[in-house]
Amino acid sequence: MLIPLFKFLSSIAVLLSLCLSGQAQNTLPEVLGGNIAGDETSTRFFVNFSQNTAVQTFYMESPHRIIMDLSETTFDIDVEEVFKPIGLVEAVSAGRISQGRSRIVLTLAKPAEIVRATMQKVLDEDYFRFLLDIEVASPERFSALLNAQKLVLGESGNVAQKGDRVLKKEKKEGRFRIVIDPGHGGIDGGAVGKLGTREKEVVLIFAEVLAEKLRNSGPFEVLLTRTDDVFLSLRQRLDFNRRSNADLFISVHADSLNQRSVRGSTIYTLSKKASDRLSERLAESENSVDLIAGIQVVEESEALTDILIDLTTRETKVLSKQFSRILVTELDKDIKLIKNPLRSASFGVLKAPEVPSVLLELGYLSNIEDEKLMQSLPWKTKAADAVARAVRAFFEPRLQ
Ligand SMILES: [Zn+2]
Repeated sequence: MLIPLFKFLSSIAVLLSLCLSGQAQNTLPEVLGGNIAGDETSTRFFVNFSQNTAVQTFYMESPHRIIMDLSETTFDIDVEEVFKPIGLVEAVSAGRISQGRSRIVLTLAKPAEIVRATMQKVLDEDYFRFLLDIEVASPERFSALLNAQKLVLGESGNVAQKGDRVLKKEKKEGRFRIVIDPGHGGIDGGAVGKLGTREKEVVLIFAEVLAEKLRNSGPFEVLLTRTDDVFLSLRQRLDFNRRSNADLFISVHADSLNQRSVRGSTIYTLSKKASDRLSERLAESENSVDLIAGIQVVEESEALTDILIDLTTRETKVLSKQFSRILVTELDKDIKLIKNPLRSASFGVLKAPEVPSVLLELGYLSNIEDEKLMQSLPWKTKAADAVARAVRAFFEPRLQ
């Protein structure tokens, strides 16, 4: 038994293709370009790097994916433009996944197997090419590859450290802690507008403006789940919120809808059943961001579903609703709202049982008017002012 197993493992080890660089590097590797070619039986993917870098590949299921993990790498390319899906590759996402780490995710059209994964210096050029050849495989073969890699890697893929950025510390007497959660980040860019506005960027700027306003408008301690362009899984956002011992959680988004005419701000609270079809679809898409980043969500997803909703205390629900109503009132004074701006759905990020939580869609990047507004700093400031007024009003009864 030992010999076949050893053979199997060594073949997997080849597939993992850990190509280590020998020289010390001060600058981050940069992705210079790449391409995909082939058909539904055999597809070649390659990516050019400014320097030799370690690439670790592995498989993931539901959906079938091939992941390439890298040390932190700069992607100064338009990933969607450069890597047009073809053959066995259905979608490509790439970017930073955590401090010091980047990732490329190939979502596969069918189960496939890596037959070649190499890094080599391009002849007569000053850059390195990582080449990945894949061939169609049966679902059984794909399962076998997954099982085999577990022997080597353990439960790989879940590289994110769980909410270790904030310790659950005591708040000063009379102070309230607010967590602002700019949606998306890193490898997960969120929605993109017609004019090229990226959700992950808009919501981060807004969150920073809002944090500043809040710090100046009352006894508020403000924490941001992220302050730069980094990916956070839903679980990390939720853990951050819970461990922060927060009094209020505001997740900020600017998503995209199929109906391009829909515009205006929306305030979402958590509910098992969505208030309407649009909200249901939006929550589905938001809850699937971990898939984009290649995060293993097998057991986590269960914890994020009904169990936590059931744990949500009545008080948390009441307070979330109460804040959402105040928020609508304040936003309505200065900002265009969607028809029926108070909506609800099963958003994973809102499931901290003990923290009143809302998700604010600033507007929709699928609508050009909304996009133009969201690009403007005066508009963001006006919207942040309204949110800060709402927060102040929400805590007013508890302020001395
Ligand atoms: Zn979003």
